[in-house]
Amino acid sequence: MDSASEAKLREVAPELAARVRAMAATLAARGITIRVVSGLRSTAQQAVLYANRASNPRPVAVPGTSKHETGNAVDLSVAGGTWAQVGAAGEAQGLRWGGRFEHKDYPHFEVASGAVVSDAGSIFDFESDNEPFVVAGSLCCWSH
Ligand SMILES: [Zn+2]
Repeated sequence: MDSASEAKLREVAPELAARVRAMAATLAARGITIRVVSGLRSTAQQAVLYANRASNPRPVAVPGTSKHETGNAVDLSVAGGTWAQVGAAGEAQGLRWGGRFEHKDYPHFEVASGAVVSDAGSIFDFESDNEPFVVAGSLCCWSH
């Protein structure tokens, strides 16, 4: 991965960084380049994103609820391939892909464990990667 991506990976959970590096290697063998465009965020940085969410083409989590704030999520860019290819590579590494979210967030990959906090502020724990996550009738609120 390029040096800017590596710098961001050094700030996130080692488990996540290792899986993203493995994704990059798998994809590079097929001529696809990924870069890390966002990794760890402070709650203040998340608050800025949230305040400007109306102009963001992608979903933005409420400050205090994003997995970026705990170093358990990255946003990627892709060149030479498709999001479907990148998503498959991430899922092969056991990561949860934002392309599966109800509100699609294709660049987003996160560690598939731990507590998830909904937009309403309720904390939900999940035990399996495949457990449906339904709140008020809709797949809820992955913290992007
Ligand atoms: Zn994200």
